[in-house]
Amino acid sequence: MRIYLPEVKQRKGEAVPYSFKGSLADFFGRDEFPCGGELEVELSARAGGDKVLISGVLHAFLEAECSRCLQPFRQEVKTDFQESFVIIPEAEGGDPQALAAEAANELSVSGNYLYLNEFLRQIMILAQEYNPVCRPDCKGLCAECGADLNRTNCECREDSQIDLRLLKLKELKN
Ligand SMILES: [Zn+2]
Ligand SMILES: [Zn+2]
Repeated sequence: MRIYLPEVKQRKGEAVPYSFKGSLADFFGRDEFPCGGELEVELSARAGGDKVLISGVLHAFLEAECSRCLQPFRQEVKTDFQESFVIIPEAEGGDPQALAAEAANELSVSGNYLYLNEFLRQIMILAQEYNPVCRPDCKGLCAECGADLNRTNCECREDSQIDLRLLKLKELKN
């Protein structure tokens, strides 16, 4: 996804809409998302001073693995974002303005196009949960025998529940 800066500047502060709807592989490359998933991005770009301001919503469905039961599932990621990029006129050699923007921890862009794929990839990674679960009440795997407790009740679990109850009884007696 790229923003054509001369058009945004010409609209003088008016929001210019951009959108994408399709597969993650088409957007970020098949190397990174070989097994599918979908992405929808809607954003607007507008010029403000020497900056271009981007704001929008990213909504994705990723092929993920549940951190509790290890089953594959579709993870939904939805997040708002906004960011400003300092527009730096193209110059030859080391550009002092680009270095200044970098030093001030600001994102910068030069040339006619602002490419947003890498920026949006990072937004998506930040919005992803660190330990995704297939559903909030996923019971996960038994720590003893490895059975998927969403599908079956293994016997070690029953034992440990009894143990817990015995422990409670002991606590009460004490
Ligand atoms: Zn799960
Ligand atoms: Zn078990």
